[in-house]
Amino acid sequence: MDRGAYRERIAEVLAGTHGAKVGYPIELRELEVLRTAQVGSGLIRITFGGPGLDGFHSYVPDEHVRVVFPDSDGSLRLPVKDGLSLEWPAPRPVSREYTVRRYDAAAGELDIDFAVHPGGLASDWALAVQPGARMHIAGPPGGVVVPTSYDNYLFAGDITALPAIARWLEWLPRETTGWAFVEVIDATQEIDLDAPAGIEVRWLHRGDAAPGTGDLLEKAIRSVTVPDGQNVYAWVAGEAGQLRPIRKWVRGELGVGPKDCLIAGYWKHGIANFDGEE
Ligand SMILES: Cc1cc2nc3c(=O)[nH]c(=O)nc-3n(C[C@H](O)[C@H](O)[C@H](O)COP(=O)(O)OP(=O)(O)OC[C@H]3O[C@@H](n4cnc5c(N)ncnc54)[C@H](O)[C@@H]3O)c2cc1C
Repeated sequence: MDRGAYRERIAEVLAGTHGAKVGYPIELRELEVLRTAQVGSGLIRITFGGPGLDGFHSYVPDEHVRVVFPDSDGSLRLPVKDGLSLEWPAPRPVSREYTVRRYDAAAGELDIDFAVHPGGLASDWALAVQPGARMHIAGPPGGVVVPTSYDNYLFAGDITALPAIARWLEWLPRETTGWAFVEVIDATQEIDLDAPAGIEVRWLHRGDAAPGTGDLLEKAIRSVTVPDGQNVYAWVAGEAGQLRPIRKWVRGELGVGPKDCLIAGYWKHGIANFDGEE
């Protein structure tokens, strides 16, 4: 990747007919927690800022960063800059991936929304952290760039996918049509979404069922009928096992090609820091 060439590539993909991953130069930054806020009952928004945020870059809704945590003995081992990328020490430091929910260069603010769940290192950190705390974040390493020219967009996911879905819905042109299905516990986890009027937003309440179980998302996606002669971009994220039948249906019965969808396991039952996109 040449310095700056990624910007041309982003513009090229946006002007094209299919989505593609585009890599960006990667930096490590030490950021300050400016404030925290509850977003619905399921997400905690941490707003980061400080001089370390200078030069942060963000272009498209599907971008993530790695939040780097100290080892269990408290020592902090950090990646080091290596050209346009980062070199990570071995064994790899503890880190977790989170979506860039909002970046405001003028205000010098970066929002990340953390889903709260029992037994999660990052989740526990988000619950406890206070303004003034410092944290290292790496990335974004790139983005999934998708033209706005598809006839329809299909979004689906659980609460870990909600920050990205919210950003997608804000970013798309107001005349966009499609569907957005979000699985949450109940109405307390629903949040305000700035969606184009032509996108049907449906909240799916799983109630007492454990997260990442059940077929609510699959059933909702199977209810979609794409009008004859039209195409669709599909973006789905959540628990890896829950996505398996969905991937099969989107690729198979809906006939969506690999460049026209992103179906990503964001976490997996029983595995910390699951890292197995698609
Ligand atoms: C590209 C990408 C973007 C992501 N963006 C976001 C985001 O914006 N917001 C967000 O909240 N998450 C996001 N995730 C998911 C997040 O990285 C994982 O949920 C991560 O495992 C959480 O870290 P943790 O330290 O809290 O839990 P871990 O220590 O990783 O896991 C501990 C245990 O909790 C389970 N677990 C993990 N996540 C959940 C969950 N949500 N609900 C129930 N059990 C869980 C694991 O299976 C494991 O058994 C993203 C993941 C990817 C790959």
